[in-house]
Amino acid sequence: MIDREILLEKVKTSPYKPMKGRIIKAEMLTEKEKFFRIELEDKVNLAHEPGQFVMVSIFGYGEAPISICSSPTDKGYFDLTVRNVGTLTSRLHQLGEGDTLGIRGPFGKGFPIDNMFGYDLVIVAGGLGIVPLRSLMRYIMHNRNDFGNVQLLLGCKSPKDLLFREEVKEWKRRAEVKFNCTVDKADPDWQGNVGLITTLIPGVDINPMRTYAVVVGPPIMYKFVIGELLNKIIPDHQIIVSLERRMKCGLGKCGHCQIEGKYVCQSGPVFNYAQLKDFKGECHEKAA
Ligand SMILES: Cc1cc2nc3c(=O)[nH]c(=O)nc-3n(C[C@H](O)[C@H](O)[C@H](O)COP(=O)(O)OP(=O)(O)OC[C@H]3O[C@@H](n4cnc5c(N)ncnc54)[C@H](O)[C@@H]3O)c2cc1C
Repeated sequence: MIDREILLEKVKTSPYKPMKGRIIKAEMLTEKEKFFRIELEDKVNLAHEPGQFVMVSIFGYGEAPISICSSPTDKGYFDLTVRNVGTLTSRLHQLGEGDTLGIRGPFGKGFPIDNMFGYDLVIVAGGLGIVPLRSLMRYIMHNRNDFGNVQLLLGCKSPKDLLFREEVKEWKRRAEVKFNCTVDKADPDWQGNVGLITTLIPGVDINPMRTYAVVVGPPIMYKFVIGELLNKIIPDHQIIVSLERRMKCGLGKCGHCQIEGKYVCQSGPVFNYAQLKDFKGECHEKAA
């Protein structure tokens, strides 16, 4: 297995050249989202930080940024979960075990794990936001003693949209993670909460000075969730979010993802709320 230094050298010397990835597992998680486990050529370890993304390409269809949803502690492969929305992603959904694709990266800044050691964590995932947060959750599970109390708040439109069902059950079963899930619209079998994810936050027991909140979800969610977290007096720099912008190069060259002079692909996609405030409100529209 090739180590991190060799991979980083490869990315540095040929950042536009995709590496060859082979799909070793593929399965539909919901009607729209498909899970892929990928092995890089020469079994190179991606050695990413939770919260980073890769550029995924298919010859003749294009390239798109996709969050890595496995942990760096998962060795020899990495996972992606892709929603079918357009040209590249619908072609990706046709691929299965044994097929190959192009991978560049990892790119961007991930969650500030080093700062979070020893702190309590409140992790708020809305919809597809659980995808990058699964990387963080798996990292925490593999290094559980490095963190304080962990509370996971999960929200999705309906029970059938819930991603990583089996894994979520396992997190729920493990007593050292408090878990609460809500859906916008229940079905007859649903026994959990019904309502927006913001309704879960007032009931969460938080010691603000020793808590990091990590929030990833659809744009509309950010304003309200951050408002609730500020009501709990969590300091701005301890509220962490991930922004989704259209990006092309992933390398801070093309400018597609720029906000207020910052390239989200390089300075982000992860920011803290203190940094976000400099974006003068635009982030509330663009965050995801
Ligand atoms: C840092 C980052 C991480 C991401 N992680 C994931 C992930 O883990 N899983 C996942 O499924 N998706 C993720 N996305 C979104 C994904 O990149 C887009 O869905 C993808 O680029 C669409 O490509 P396409 O060729 O299939 O769609 P296109 O054919 O290009 O477009 C289809 C439709 O989607 C819209 N669209 C395309 N790109 C974006 C975008 N970036 N934001 C909003 N609307 C868009 C278009 O306007 C159009 O309506 C991420 C995006 C970013 C920036």
